[in-house]
Amino acid sequence: MLLVGDAAGLVSPLTAGGIHTALESGRASAVALTAALVCDTGAAMTVTIDVPQFRIKRLLRKAFDVFQNDWLFDVLLSTGALSATARLTYFHRRGLLSSSAWKDLLRR
Ligand SMILES: Cc1cc2nc3c(=O)[nH]c(=O)nc-3n(C[C@H](O)[C@H](O)[C@H](O)COP(=O)(O)OP(=O)(O)OC[C@H]3O[C@@H](n4cnc5c(N)ncnc54)[C@H](O)[C@@H]3O)c2cc1C
Repeated sequence: MLLVGDAAGLVSPLTAGGIHTALESGRASAVALTAALVCDTGAAMTVTIDVPQFRIKRLLRKAFDVFQNDWLFDVLLSTGALSATARLTYFHRRGLLSSSAWKDLLRR
């Protein structure tokens, strides 16, 4: 069985970035399979694919699983600063560059 990209779990659960790893793992798989098929004798074949280990990312993911806690986000959600940032981000296309954003901020 061969899994690449999202199917192999290479998409980041934090950023949702997975295009680069999907393309890279697909390319590495194709290269390895092509090399193996060149020497195909009809017998069972083992293909080794050179893939990144993502050591730091895996460590961060584990740390996130163990230590992540909602209380800090819950506290931040109740602050005016986060509320203003959210309004700027979601309701004003040009953020601080738009006059309507400033009117909105100063009105509150
Ligand atoms: C809303 C959204 C936004 C994203 N934004 C980004 C971004 O900005 N940057 C980034 O790097 N990544 C982003 N990603 C993640 C990125 O899209 C994926 O990591 C990447 O597309 C994975 O590629 P893939 O080839 O592994 O899988 P996919 O792109 O999902 O391709 C799998 C293909 O297999 C097909 N398929 C499924 N089952 C079968 C079957 N039984 N038979 C035949 N075909 C089948 C599917 O129809 C699909 O076409 C985003 C994902 C989502 C959902």
